[in-house]
Amino acid sequence: MLTGIGIMLLTFVVMEGVAWVMHKYVLHGFLWFLHKSHHTRHNHVFELNDLFFAYYGTLSMLFFIFGSDPIDYRFWIGAGITLYGVAYFLIHDVFIHRRIKLFGSTSNVYLKALNMAHKVHHKTQGKHDSESFGMLWVAPRYFKLAYGIVKKQQERGAIYNQRT
Ligand SMILES: [Zn+2]
Ligand SMILES: [Zn+2]
Repeated sequence: MLTGIGIMLLTFVVMEGVAWVMHKYVLHGFLWFLHKSHHTRHNHVFELNDLFFAYYGTLSMLFFIFGSDPIDYRFWIGAGITLYGVAYFLIHDVFIHRRIKLFGSTSNVYLKALNMAHKVHHKTQGKHDSESFGMLWVAPRYFKLAYGIVKKQQERGAIYNQRT
């Protein structure tokens, strides 16, 4: 069980690497025709890009099917992929792109940095010259930026509180 959870967490971390490579070289590569839908403004509920959820969903399901009788390492790999998928959806689709209005603004430095990094990724609407392809791993410079903003907000809040 403990090994299983270890495999699951390791898969979760590896998935961030897989997602980065996929995003940079495949989605902004030969599968751009699918991913493009996520880089252009529209008012549809779904995007062609959402097919990737089906892809990772199928992948994890196969791991579950082949690894569950009896339960072996494949089951836990499937669990790790699922866990990453849920985290990705909550952060990328709900928190950053607000496809479901669930979270308000945050003063959490990590979440702010993550949001900024991804917004920079979306700045370029084309296939090339984008950056920040990862999701949960954020480059240190965004942390610095986010930290500065949060600190300023807090200072402003403190001044406001002193006045009232
Ligand atoms: Zn992209
Ligand atoms: Zn996005």
